Amino acid sequence: MNYISTRNNQKNFTFRDVFIKGLADDGGLFVPKSINQLKKEDLDNLKSLSYKDLAAEIIYPFIGDFMSKDELSSLISNSYSNFRVNDVVKISDLGNLKVLELFHGPTLAFKDIAMQLIGSFYQYHLRRDQKKINIIVATSGDTGAAAIDALKGKSNLNVFVLHPNNKISPVQRKLMTIHEESNVFNIAVEGNFDDCQNLVKSMFNDEKFSKAINMSGVNSINWARIIAQSVYYFYAYFKVGNSQPLSFCVPTGNFGDIYAGYLAKKLGLPIDQLIVATNKNDILHRAISGGDYTQKKVEETNTPSMDIQIASNFERLLYDIKDCNSEVTKDVMSKIRNNAYKIDKSDLDKIKKNFISEMLDEKETVEMIKVINEEYHIVIDPHTAVGVGAAKKLGLEKNCVVLSTAHPCKFPQAIEDAISKAENLPDSLKYVNERKEKFEVLPNDIKQIKDYIINSV
Ligand SMILES: *Cc1c(COP(=O)(O)O)cnc(C)c1O
Repeated sequence: MNYISTRNNQKNFTFRDVFIKGLADDGGLFVPKSINQLKKEDLDNLKSLSYKDLAAEIIYPFIGDFMSKDELSSLISNSYSNFRVNDVVKISDLGNLKVLELFHGPTLAFKDIAMQLIGSFYQYHLRRDQKKINIIVATSGDTGAAAIDALKGKSNLNVFVLHPNNKISPVQRKLMTIHEESNVFNIAVEGNFDDCQNLVKSMFNDEKFSKAINMSGVNSINWARIIAQSVYYFYAYFKVGNSQPLSFCVPTGNFGDIYAGYLAKKLGLPIDQLIVATNKNDILHRAISGGDYTQKKVEETNTPSMDIQIASNFERLLYDIKDCNSEVTKDVMSKIRNNAYKIDKSDLDKIKKNFISEMLDEKETVEMIKVINEEYHIVIDPHTAVGVGAAKKLGLEKNCVVLSTAHPCKFPQAIEDAISKAENLPDSLKYVNERKEKFEVLPNDIKQIKDYIINSV
């Protein structure tokens, strides 16, 4: 499959390029040049596969130049061997709603599903190309832990994680900072997630720096993550779809997870609505409901993994909306950078064919955790509560799957506020609370952060 950048569709890239680079040199995001839609009989052939076999079938067409299908299958099998449920994910009922539990991996959030695979992809790549890679990643809390777990101790690579200092939950932080492997580096940036993301983007755009350290990235803009995530949309559809189109409600920050659903729909999966559920950092809700894509200041909430105002993957959707015109996309992106972009009516109509949105504030989120606990005697994490609440507000509970993106024990404060109860770590992760933490606090200053990295590699 050939890939292009959303800001220049004249130049072709292979999957290997796309995977290792993460972001295109022109600042654009990689997307497939074209996508073949699956036919009804293709879907029929997929419907009774195990999660791992399904993953191989969905992912292989996107990465055929990278490895053989047999290699991919065995790599998937290894990557998911440390999940706490056999089929990687689990589906449960919440009244009429279905909940797709994506948090059964080693660091308790959906990020593990793509990241464990990506860790294996790096290892595979480095068997052929021995040049040491430095992976730099910004995190709003969960990506960093997932990346570190997937990459710690692997030879020929380092992983540097930038998280916003004091703006993530203690459990989120501990899952990143307790590791002793010498290839793991944690930087707590005195800023918010968007600052961390901007620092990583500017390091990528600094060709001299990124070449010097052989930089690579695993943020949610990495195409490999998107394809790994679209697998669970297929899996959920085959388990609960009953040949009816399904809607998916997705707690959203960077627009990566829900874009994976959009990709599944483009591949031919019968998806009705994709519901973007946000917290009060609601740029995507304002955009999708009324075309307002102006950035406001990021506010801290009890759903920190969604405290984001720059939804990077939205560029991939804009490229589609702009009829795959990369010049126009580039223009729009520069308007967005200057905070001077409003989505016009015809573009908005196109977006609304596939997406609707809703928002929950912090009080509503806590209330939702409480109501669900009273009604169904289960504890959901605050991000999942935003998803459940959005589906309920929209009255879309039938034929709807909410993505449950994290284990509740990662966000004990919100759970405590809702039901006055502590939510414990699973037994296999209890040791996390005992270990010593290691991280470096640095100012939101590109030069100091680059110096720290250069001196560590
Ligand atoms: C990352 C994350 C999200 C947001 O996912 P995006 O792909 O950034 O939209 C939601 N919930 C949790 C728990 C997360 O870790």
